[in-house]
Order: sequence, then structure tokens, then C-alpha cells
Amino acid sequence: MSRVYNFNPGPACLPEEVLREAAAEMLDYRGAGMSVMEMSHRAPAFEAILQEAEADLRSLMGIPDHYAVLFLQGGASQQFAMVPMNLSRNGKADYLVTGSFSQKAAEEARRFLDVRVAATGEEGNFSHVPPVDNLTFRPDSDYVHLCLNNTIFGTRFSALPDTGNPPLVGDLSSCILSEPVDVSRYALIYAGAQKNMGIAGLTVVIIRRDMVRDDLPDSVPTMLRYSTHMKADSLYNTPPCQAIYMCGKVLRWLKGLGGLSAMAAINREKAALLYDYLDQSRVFRGTAYPDSRSLMNITFVTGDKERDAAFIRFAEQRGLYGLKGHRSAGGMRASIYNAMPVQGVQALVDCMAAFEGAQA
Ligand code: PMP
Repeated sequence: MSRVYNFNPGPACLPEEVLREAAAEMLDYRGAGMSVMEMSHRAPAFEAILQEAEADLRSLMGIPDHYAVLFLQGGASQQFAMVPMNLSRNGKADYLVTGSFSQKAAEEARRFLDVRVAATGEEGNFSHVPPVDNLTFRPDSDYVHLCLNNTIFGTRFSALPDTGNPPLVGDLSSCILSEPVDVSRYALIYAGAQKNMGIAGLTVVIIRRDMVRDDLPDSVPTMLRYSTHMKADSLYNTPPCQAIYMCGKVLRWLKGLGGLSAMAAINREKAALLYDYLDQSRVFRGTAYPDSRSLMNITFVTGDKERDAAFIRFAEQRGLYGLKGHRSAGGMRASIYNAMPVQGVQALVDCMAAFEGAQA
């Protein structure tokens, strides 16, 4: 068996310890004589998995009791629709468009309400996020939506805007659990699990309970109402059992590591390794503005498409995978989520230096 360093943007690498534990429990989950995948979602053993995952997420993120935690399906993309369907009162919302996913979220919301784009980074090919101090929002908007970390363009907000009256909704898909977060700044946080929380199939929603409404238009389907899932403690129907189980293991791994402050220190170290290399390189250069640099997705180019492709091949020959940039951004992207060890980033930097040396 040989494992590679996997820089994929999601689904992404998982802690090896988590994979080993899941493998050991695959045929017989703790004496049940079956795997979690084969178990009833109403079985006490599964209910314990669900409750423990919620409790661990609450303690890791410091989620206050007046927020509900929902374990849903449909991907973060389904939240692009559920958010406006559930949160619309005045029929308007403001969106910060800082990348492909916030653009998709804004477009989807247009089906349901009047969307004002409060800022867009499209002209600069999303290479930076706007300074949050100069932003203005409509006071009667139902919410303001932002994407905290832009997976494709490698940028992130390092501060949140003061939205005034409208509450803040955040897509944290590619940065959740990477550093401490003040949950109380948000009315709703959502994240697909397949980057920093586990595997695909699970989307976590953290929602302030007073935002969950029962009086939605009849046309809003049962499965697309937060109230359905909150009332049923995420067991209205069959949940993504295996994905919740894997998420629980990732959360326990994170607790063992010392929680989000300890994780953030490691993530800063990893990102600094790579950005410091990029800043002095004569062949590679980072594409995100320094004030907007993501700690999770690091985008870079050589400035020449063929040389980019040659580097990606060179890296694969050395066991470094998933470095090709998204088709809309080009170049390279190293996704260095929580589960990527410092050694993996060091191996990438060494590989870049070797490539650079061979170009001289
Ligand atoms: N938002 C962000 C920030 C993402 O990175 C992604 C997935 N790459 C999505 C939303 C869409 O997530 P999903 O594929 O789970 O629908």
C-alpha cells in the first residue's frame, strides 16, 4: 500500500487515523455484527453516533444552545436554494460575490427573491475580496450572504462585515473547522462535509433557532424546510449515516489534536510555508492578493500554461496529486485542509524547488 499526498479540493484527503479506524470497524461496528452502513438509522448505536457528532461539533466550534445543528443532504449547493426559501420575509437579500460559489448562490437566490450584489470581484478574476469596511447593505434585506473561503480562487475574508440590521449567512464549506469562528456573528452557517469535516453526502447547517420558521408558503417542500429537520433532530428521514459517522471520527480526531486553536496554528504554519516559497520564487507566483490569501486553497501559476501542465506532471511523478487548478481559474491549486500534514506541504515546496532548479 502506498498513499500519495492528496491536494484535491473536495472530496479531499482524510486523516489516516480516521481511515484506519473506519476500516477496523467496517465489518463489525463495536460488536453490532454489521457496519454502520448496514445499520438502522433508528438503532441506538447510530443515534449515539449522531448525538456524539453534534456534541463534539458544538464543543469544538463553541456553538451556543440557541443554535440548532442540522445534518442534511443535498450538498452546499442545496443550501443556495434552502437559504432564500426559508429566510425570505421582505423578499430581498444582499450577496457578496467573491467567487464561483457565491455567484451560484446569488443566481439561485434570484429564483426566490430580489438579490442585490453588494460587491463583486469578477473584474479582477476574483483575485481578492473587498475590504469589509466600505460595504453597504439594504437595512430591510432578509439577510446578507457571503462565502468565507473561496475554494476555486484561493481567497478568503479575514474579517466579517458589519451588516447592520440584516443577519449574516455564511458558506463555510472550505474553511469550517480550520480555525476558531465566532458563531454568534452568523444567523446561519452551512458547509459541505467533503473538505474539512469528512466525506461527501453530508451538509452541516448551524442555524439560530429564531430564524427557523413554521409559517413558510405551502409551496416550500417538506424536505427543504429547516423546521422539518430541526424538529426531528436530523432524523426526519434516513440521514447520510456513513457520512455522519465519518464526520464524527474527524471531529474526535480534531479534539484529540487540541481543538480549533491548535488546528489553526498548524494551518497557519502550512500556509506560510507555501506562501513564503511562492513570494521568493522566480518560476511560480501566487494569484491571490496578499490581503485575501486563503489558508486552505493556495492558487499559483507559472504564467505559462504548458509549464503549468509540466509542473503538474512533475509533481504526480513524485506522489503529489490533485494540484491542477479549477478549469475556471487555470494554473495550480494546493488544497491544504486540516488533514494535510505539514510534511505534505513541505514535500510540495521541495517539489517546486526541484522543478525550479530543473528550469534554470
Ligand atoms: N461552496 C463552496 C465554498 C464550495 O467549495 C463548494 C464545493 N466545492 C460548494 C459550495 C458546493 O458544494 P457541493 O458540491 O457540496 O454542493
